[in-house]
Amino acid sequence: CGIVGILGNTEVAPLLVDALKRLEYRGYDSAGVATLHDGQLDRRRAAGKLRNLELILNDNPLPGTIGIGHTRWATHGIPNETNAHPHRAGNIAAVHNGIIENFRELRHSLAENGHTFESETDSETIVHLIKREMDKGFKPVQAVAVVLKMLKGAFSLAIIFGGEDNLMIGARRGSPLAVGHGEGEMFLGSDAFALAPFTDKVTYLDDGDWAVLSRSTIQIFNENDELVERQQTVAMASA
Ligand code: GLU
Repeated sequence: CGIVGILGNTEVAPLLVDALKRLEYRGYDSAGVATLHDGQLDRRRAAGKLRNLELILNDNPLPGTIGIGHTRWATHGIPNETNAHPHRAGNIAAVHNGIIENFRELRHSLAENGHTFESETDSETIVHLIKREMDKGFKPVQAVAVVLKMLKGAFSLAIIFGGEDNLMIGARRGSPLAVGHGEGEMFLGSDAFALAPFTDKVTYLDDGDWAVLSRSTIQIFNENDELVERQQTVAMASA
């Protein structure tokens, strides 16, 4: 339902939760965040309100200056911690808004390749598909490009990778996603309002676009994987 990503220079977990709070108005049933710390992926998730996630993070903080966060409105799988995003397979973590319509056949094919699933969600399929491509030797950007073509349905995504402390990939098809530009920081949000505390310089992705972000660069590709320019705008100040 709500997506936030931060490639930052300070601890991002509290910032992710604050940004998710700004998306609460959209409704949600569970929430989670994942970060990289010393190159290692880790995550915290909770059913129910963001307050529950905050309590877990208070007891068990999540360090790291790169991370993704999600508020979920369940479509496939009951609202519980296991089905909450971020989903993870090996060194890949992702948050997903929307529905992957062909997830059953994708999941079946992954299961034949030995992948096992911990959740009932359509979303978990995505990280396993990326892992399968990376296990073949593809780098993260190539793997995501391949996987995006396998997905049917409406989605927006934010993805991070263990060992890749300066890389975040976003994608949108039929569900909004914006890139926020900071000073040596980069942001992703399903809604510019979520990014307002960080920056008002925003680039809205066009439908079918996907974006490769570092702290200082942004590359946007269209659905044919052609590098494209999208206009940067100044979002309305909204505090
Ligand atoms: N279909 C996904 C799920 O059920 C994402 C739902 C959402 O947009 O929050 O987990």
